[in-house]
Amino acid sequence: MEAELLVHLGEIDHRKLYLERAHSSMFAFCTRELGFSEDAACNRILVARAARKMPAVIDAVRNRRVHLAGMRLLVPHLTEPNYMDLLDKAEGRTKEEIAEIVAALAPRPAPPTFVRKLPERPVPLSLPSVAPRGSSTPQRPVTPVAEDVFKLQLAISREFRDEIREAQDLMRHRVPDGDLVTIFRAALKVFVADVKKERFAIGRKRRNVPTAKLTVSRHVPDAVRRAVYERDGGRCTFIDDRGKRCDEKGRLELDHVEGFARTHRHDVESLRLLCRAHNQHAADLLYGRAFLDAARREARPP
Ligand SMILES: [Zn+2]
Repeated sequence: MEAELLVHLGEIDHRKLYLERAHSSMFAFCTRELGFSEDAACNRILVARAARKMPAVIDAVRNRRVHLAGMRLLVPHLTEPNYMDLLDKAEGRTKEEIAEIVAALAPRPAPPTFVRKLPERPVPLSLPSVAPRGSSTPQRPVTPVAEDVFKLQLAISREFRDEIREAQDLMRHRVPDGDLVTIFRAALKVFVADVKKERFAIGRKRRNVPTAKLTVSRHVPDAVRRAVYERDGGRCTFIDDRGKRCDEKGRLELDHVEGFARTHRHDVESLRLLCRAHNQHAADLLYGRAFLDAARREARPP
């Protein structure tokens, strides 16, 4: 059962079929559509990907030689020359024993006993859109503590700490106690407004939407970008055949429904917001189809 599921997941991932179901990533598809927990989704995606290259991985799961949690630890280390040997070694082992096998393969320095001042890399605010690499579940700095209350925990550099102090001092006249929540919210508000302005011209001086005319410039006029962003509610507009709309609000791009290369127009009606994944998907469909149509015309006798 688990093995067949992994085969299906590998196929869906490889063919990007999750796009057709209005999801921007395999991870979103597994958690939102299939109802996997975040951990189970990460485990299965990583194992399914490895299994496409090394089918013996599936056999080991099917024959219950290696369980999924152990396999997930193992797959980042499997290579063509070593995988048969490693699968043998992992047979019938507990997750902890497999972790030891992996540690012997890729020894890591012992964790320092002091508190590190700097993290090695930024900690993601939420799980990334593709299953993360590595064997441990990413830390989540935002954790719920009560309804509508969340705790945020961050490791920051000395430089960042100094910048926070500077902001607290500058805001002292309005926020005498330097309350961090108030200051971060104020700062974020300015930042979000700034990015919206840069990306979609939100908040720029209003001008009427120009009448669409033929152009060679790929630059979409501010008024058009703003109108499209507002009409689409800042969210990907891909809708699947069940009527489900993609939830993605990140990596949004303006898409010319009929293809700019064909229309040379930037009018509101011909544009829509799509997430990066669905924009590429749309381009594949559009230009793939165009290519096929052209090829058929060529083939037809005059
Ligand atoms: Zn999308």
